[in-house]
Amino acid sequence: MVMRRRVRFWGAVQGVGFRPFAYGLAQELGLTGQVANTPQGAEVEIEGNPEVLDRFCERIQAELPRPGYVAGYESSAVAPQGDSQFVIRHSEQAGAKSALILPDIKPCERCIAEMHDPQDRRYRYPFTNCTHCGPRYSIITGLPYDRPNTSMSGFELCPDCRREYEDPTDRRFHAQPIACPVCGPHLEFCDSLGRPLTQKDEALKTAAELLKSGGILALKGVGGFHLMVDARNTEAVESLRARKRREFKPLAVMVLDMAMAHKYAEISEEAERVLLDLAAPIVILPSKGQLSPSVAPDNPNIGLMLPSSPLHILLMEELQFPIVATSGNLSDEPICIDNTEAIDRLSQIADGYLIHDRPIVRPIDDSVCRPLGEGITILRRARGFAPLPFPLKGAKPGLVAYGAHMKGSVAVSGDDQIVVGQHVGDLDHRLARERLAEEIRDLGELYESPQIRAVHDLHPDYASSAMAAESGMECQAVQHHLAHAASLAAEHQFLGEFLAIAWDGTGLGPDQTIWGGEFLEVRDTAVRRAAFLRPFCLPGGDSASRQGYRSALGVLFEIFGDTAEFDAIHLGGEREPAVKSLLRSHTACVRTTSAGRLFDAAAAIGAGILESRFEGDAAMRWEAMAVAGPVEAYPFRVCEQGGLLIADWEPMVLSMLVSEEDAGLKSARFHQTLAEMIASLALRLGAGVVGLTGGCFQNALLSRLSCTLLRKNGIDVMEHRVIPPNDGGIAFGQAASRILGWRLV
Ligand code: ZN
Ligand code: ZN
Ligand code: FE
Repeated sequence: MVMRRRVRFWGAVQGVGFRPFAYGLAQELGLTGQVANTPQGAEVEIEGNPEVLDRFCERIQAELPRPGYVAGYESSAVAPQGDSQFVIRHSEQAGAKSALILPDIKPCERCIAEMHDPQDRRYRYPFTNCTHCGPRYSIITGLPYDRPNTSMSGFELCPDCRREYEDPTDRRFHAQPIACPVCGPHLEFCDSLGRPLTQKDEALKTAAELLKSGGILALKGVGGFHLMVDARNTEAVESLRARKRREFKPLAVMVLDMAMAHKYAEISEEAERVLLDLAAPIVILPSKGQLSPSVAPDNPNIGLMLPSSPLHILLMEELQFPIVATSGNLSDEPICIDNTEAIDRLSQIADGYLIHDRPIVRPIDDSVCRPLGEGITILRRARGFAPLPFPLKGAKPGLVAYGAHMKGSVAVSGDDQIVVGQHVGDLDHRLARERLAEEIRDLGELYESPQIRAVHDLHPDYASSAMAAESGMECQAVQHHLAHAASLAAEHQFLGEFLAIAWDGTGLGPDQTIWGGEFLEVRDTAVRRAAFLRPFCLPGGDSASRQGYRSALGVLFEIFGDTAEFDAIHLGGEREPAVKSLLRSHTACVRTTSAGRLFDAAAAIGAGILESRFEGDAAMRWEAMAVAGPVEAYPFRVCEQGGLLIADWEPMVLSMLVSEEDAGLKSARFHQTLAEMIASLALRLGAGVVGLTGGCFQNALLSRLSCTLLRKNGIDVMEHRVIPPNDGGIAFGQAASRILGWRLV
């Protein structure tokens, strides 16, 4: 029987290729009808077999390519028309556009082709864009998304651009950032003192010369300034590190295209897909060791990305070699966006500036992805992904989630969805706190959602918790690991029972100890702490995250107590006697179940890595040195205490302490042991599904071993893919936990 339905889709369905996609799908399924844009979204009429009509709607929602996103759809039956084909209708009405903000998108093929065509009026024009590509979130000042509400408002359209903008058949119809060499922004090169030297194409060439000669370039990109330097030139990279005060942390590298990428990294098919994604994120991949070792010291991986804007493409084409592209800031501060501010803040770093006159409304960092477990996960959600929402049934507007501390980010609720803001950095910095406040204001205004209730971390000392308290909204605290677990469940829209393994550095527990090695049973809305890693004392509290030997001494003190054996252990470090006496007198010590600190302790005991030179450094080096191939786990114990299970690492630590094995084998066996702990507890707790969440699951080896062992035991695994497993996902989890009504029992 043939039926006809009118289906209204809403979400990110305009300017994302929705109509051609619907057309292709209708062809494939043999449906007739039509598709058109409406002020609120897109409207499809389809005619055919009812089951096929259902499949069409489901597949549109599931398969619409990024950055498109279907938040929901509604359908009604209409009378069949007996159409002979499926057609794309061009909508006449302009009207108010759908209230969904798209992220910044890398240039499309057709725009790149125009830029390469000497006959085209946009030949070598670095601000070429169209309805399907170009800047969005970084240039929007308000809604509706129209030119006057973007940072392009100051550029009056030339007659040629106006014609394209107003022609419904043109691919630049209503492309708000539309520009050309006649009417759009232009490049300028300034020397280290900010004095203009060259303009337009000349400026691009001066900048390329600077990079070729080993200089440091500050380049105004899509979401802010990048600092760039030849990635093959160790002297140049070292001087960037010294001036930026970023000694060891890995630097990202931009390559021209996939051919160049393959020269420098091992790239799987899936990783290639992510590199080529519209967001053009940084992807962390195994290095082939062909770049300067200073790019990522002591690290077998390298973060690669492809050009994210026409300007980056033109520059990379001039260079034909890979360049370091790191955010234009001093370490951990937010990225610079304004020309004069950049020249001021970066004056001690850059040898020259390639700038332009298109203002950036808000800074947006590069996004970061890494292959983990059985797929690839976003570790930092920013350019190209923010501020896209996630569907979550039952969500209502009014909720603002303030997130954690070290990796600030916010989330706001809407109708059946949660909007996740971008990564704003470490809230120890005043500028990052200001960005967080602006992000909350921005998302509230852009999505026109009221802000009534605040959710924040249980830890009162997080800057985000303090900001929530000062907001004047009604506040509610959410336990850190419960938020991690909720972020994972909500990401997968999974409402069933599961066991969340929430392992990270630190998060305050309701018992006022520091949690971080948690096994949380989730049943309906009740979350029960079913098991945890054996606790130990962290001498010196927070400083332990930088100085792993403190965790090691804490772990060893837990085993040996105040004995001669403990005294006889030396890990090195001149502060060791002082730290030991803190433990003996139980001064400045906090109890913790932290898996992250257990990694630090193991790195110190097993490999003599005593300190982290940046966040997570010790654990990263420890992971990196693990020998490949299957190894035997160390022994461990599971004890029961008052209905709770405790995973005891003591036998493992003792084995490591006396073993003569080299550090690489110790590391591999340590990782294997933790994965076996996870699997054995999951079995004892009768879990059918296990979710892996928390910063420790940025560790690719731990993720892979855990997935393999769980699957081998017939247990399903949920991993993060689009929400970071680290604290960047906490805001989303806080909001989700309130919407799902989760509570710790
Ligand atoms: Zn385009
Ligand atoms: Zn123009
Ligand atoms: Fe965490």
